[in-house]
Amino acid sequence: MKKGNIIYICGRAHSGSTILDIVLNNCPDVISVGQMVSGLKDGPSRLCSCGKRRDSCEFWVGIIDDMISLGYSIQEIETLAYEQANLVSQPQTWLSSATKNRLALLRNLTLDIYVSATRRSGSANLVDSSKEPTRALFLARHIEQTRILHLVRDPRSVVYSHVWRMDKENGYFQMRNRKFYMPSLKPIFVVLVAAGWTVGNFLCEAVKILRPEVVLRVYYETLCSDPDREIRRIGKFLDIDTTAVRQKIATGQTLNTGHLIGGNDFRLNQNVTFSAGRVEDKILPIWINMVIFTFCAPLMVMYGYKWIRNIKKI
Ligand SMILES: [Zn+2]
Repeated sequence: MKKGNIIYICGRAHSGSTILDIVLNNCPDVISVGQMVSGLKDGPSRLCSCGKRRDSCEFWVGIIDDMISLGYSIQEIETLAYEQANLVSQPQTWLSSATKNRLALLRNLTLDIYVSATRRSGSANLVDSSKEPTRALFLARHIEQTRILHLVRDPRSVVYSHVWRMDKENGYFQMRNRKFYMPSLKPIFVVLVAAGWTVGNFLCEAVKILRPEVVLRVYYETLCSDPDREIRRIGKFLDIDTTAVRQKIATGQTLNTGHLIGGNDFRLNQNVTFSAGRVEDKILPIWINMVIFTFCAPLMVMYGYKWIRNIKKI
């Protein structure tokens, strides 16, 4: 087997990471495991994209068994990465060396999961789409064979996606693993999403400054408008063959969703296709646009997002 990488998808929620994860899973020599950090944290009842619970999915049962036999406790397997990925761990992740501390233990666990998953799948590359920039920093600093895809999406689309769900599900909002149903707090949640977009993407940019050779920025809009060219570019960066998945997308074939343990719930659908140009943007109320411009303007300019977009009216 040729030498592979841990491929990490970094970025904000509602940016299209699950579909990118699935696209990569359809490349030979690549196994995607979804948002592994939150997926493992959710425990044995968590649903895998194969349709089974984690404790009855052969793939995940095998990996957990491998880790237990290597001496890790179930608590370490489920929570070590989750604790490190928290925003408050940023300073420690920047400053600590991975020797004789929990970072060292997490480094070993991450590499052991990588070895187990790739051996069991017969693939050389593992994709983790946990998105958290603090984990991206950990991987970039402490694991040599890391490759990071920084997925960026227009903040108006990200906010729209959150707002759409808030309106549809009685004020639903999720922060870390906590779920809120509070429609009256919508303005606060919108501010959190907009500010989080800037902070999260800024932290991804910081990782790129640290190790520019291992980070590739991917725009969700480009992925949708020209998937063939963008996936070819991603494949070149990752040194993987993307011919088969580009062919599947071009002909509208179903994509294999594999064993994603976390991510958008559409991963549980067994008939996922990649529909190019599927951008469901609508015009947002003025106050929401003002919030977005207030909190996101500098990076929006840097990423080349236009102030006026051709979008549909609600
Ligand atoms: Zn499974």
